[in-house]
Amino acid sequence: MSMDPREELLTTCAWCLQHIEQGEELFGFGARASPSIDLSDKEGQFISLKLALQDKIIPVLVPSRTSQAHKDGYDLMFITCSAECAQDLKDALELEIDVFKDYSPPEG
Ligand SMILES: [Zn+2]
Repeated sequence: MSMDPREELLTTCAWCLQHIEQGEELFGFGARASPSIDLSDKEGQFISLKLALQDKIIPVLVPSRTSQAHKDGYDLMFITCSAECAQDLKDALELEIDVFKDYSPPEG
């Protein structure tokens, strides 16, 4: 029995990659993508986000235009199995963002 890869990712924790049993509570959270990134052809699909510092690939859902997440203003949705995983993932994302925070393009 093979599972639709999309269905499979919807039941996989983005952080610990543990399978989330059907009916179990999901701990998802949304994020905004940079406006310079066009995700319109990825709506309703999963994309892979590489966390360079963690050497981890995180599956991220791009909510479809009709979804609640999109209406809430989110461009990306992370699905995790527990509050701990959600927090660890948020911390990891913040760490990655911090790396670029003080970056400014070279003058000239
Ligand atoms: Zn997890």
